[in-house]
Amino acid sequence: MRYISTRGKSPEVTFKEVLLSGLAPDGGLYLPTSWPQFSVDQLKGILGDDHSYKDLATEIIWPFVESSMEKHDLGRLVERAYDSFSADNIVPLKHIHSKLWIAELFHGPTLAFKDIALQLVGELFEFQLQNDSEKITIVGATSGDTGSAAIEACRDREAMEIFILHPYGRTSEVQRRQMTSVRSANVFNIAIEGTFDDCQDLVKAMFADVKFSNRINMSAVNSINWARVMAQIVYYWWASMQVTDSGPVNFCVPSGNFGNIFAGHSAHKMGLPVDKFIVASNTNDVLDRFFRSGEMELRDVKPTFSPSMDIQISSNFERLLFEVYGRNGSLVEKAFRELRTDLSLSVGEENLLEIQGKWLSRKVNDQETLETISKIADEFDYLIDPHTAVGLKTAESYMSELDAPIISLATAHPSKFPNAVEHASGITPSLPQQLSDLFEREESYEILPNDEQVVKAYILEHSRR
Ligand SMILES: *Cc1c(COP(=O)(O)O)cnc(C)c1O
Repeated sequence: MRYISTRGKSPEVTFKEVLLSGLAPDGGLYLPTSWPQFSVDQLKGILGDDHSYKDLATEIIWPFVESSMEKHDLGRLVERAYDSFSADNIVPLKHIHSKLWIAELFHGPTLAFKDIALQLVGELFEFQLQNDSEKITIVGATSGDTGSAAIEACRDREAMEIFILHPYGRTSEVQRRQMTSVRSANVFNIAIEGTFDDCQDLVKAMFADVKFSNRINMSAVNSINWARVMAQIVYYWWASMQVTDSGPVNFCVPSGNFGNIFAGHSAHKMGLPVDKFIVASNTNDVLDRFFRSGEMELRDVKPTFSPSMDIQISSNFERLLFEVYGRNGSLVEKAFRELRTDLSLSVGEENLLEIQGKWLSRKVNDQETLETISKIADEFDYLIDPHTAVGLKTAESYMSELDAPIISLATAHPSKFPNAVEHASGITPSLPQQLSDLFEREESYEILPNDEQVVKAYILEHSRR
């Protein structure tokens, strides 16, 4: 298995290069040259009817990584990655009513679906680096969820150090504590006196300084890394196989950077029968507007109750565009050049009709988000977080026009966003047992000005190499 760039101007590479580099040299995102094929019957034949999530993950991921490791190595990494999950079967399915199901993706150490990808990516990084006796420094910016999931994935690992920049005073207390209370010699939290965009600009500037980034062997774990999408493909197969033996299902996904739902699309390309993909947006509705009009038009980001979806540019959307354009990298490059200069891109009528055959969308505002949390709590005695609510509201609005079951993805545990959940339902969601003492734990972080030189000096001083 080799990988190509969505911009078509980089050489084909192996999984190891994809994992460690993230972005392709031509600025594109990596995708496999072809999609490995599976069927539900074939997987059941190999694994038996009551297989575990881990066994399924090893089977599905194997063709993507076979150039870089043995299958038993992968099995061991998968085993370790998901040992930290509090649900035995990793992703439990919950039946809500009639055709509507929820896949709970939030049983990892930081209570958001990002753990499912990052726990495995941490293992893959360590495996690859130890094999080559290399060391890397991961530097990332976060507005909340990604930072804690990345820290949990990298903590206590020999081959890496991780520096996470978050905007000082601008993350929720749960999110901050999940990052700053981790006691590990290779984890460094930096609170920047600025916004999330300032943090992201600092990371970009440090990457662009080749002398600095080479000196610390700088790397990233952001959501454009193919390995993250790859790990997420598994639960689309898993969820579908839990809900039905044969027929197709629909998936509804609260979306921001488009990485999660693109993993679903990848599962479909690999042979999983899916009728429709339903994209759920909050009021930052760039994706909903695209799936309705065929035009992607950038606007300012407004804060909502579902902050992990407060996004203007959905980076993984580039992967879908590459498929829509028949894997023509020059067309993708041209489209993104337009998006940069004109703040909009358009795919044209014919492409739009084809896209709409598979993709539906809807946007959900803050008011509807709170109403959905409250209604689901009242009617089904089940607490959901605001992101999950955006998804469920969207799924319910398509119930009458779709025949097959709808699986709506629950992307965070309600206790990760206690204020919105309490405001909506009157119930304070309690933290799961492994985090119940989060508010008593000691925190450690460094407050630094929004100044590239100061941040670089801090990283050099604290880095072990
Ligand atoms: C990151 C995140 C999302 C958005 O997922 P994408 O892959 O960026 O589309 C949705 N919900 C939660 C809770 C998240 O942390």
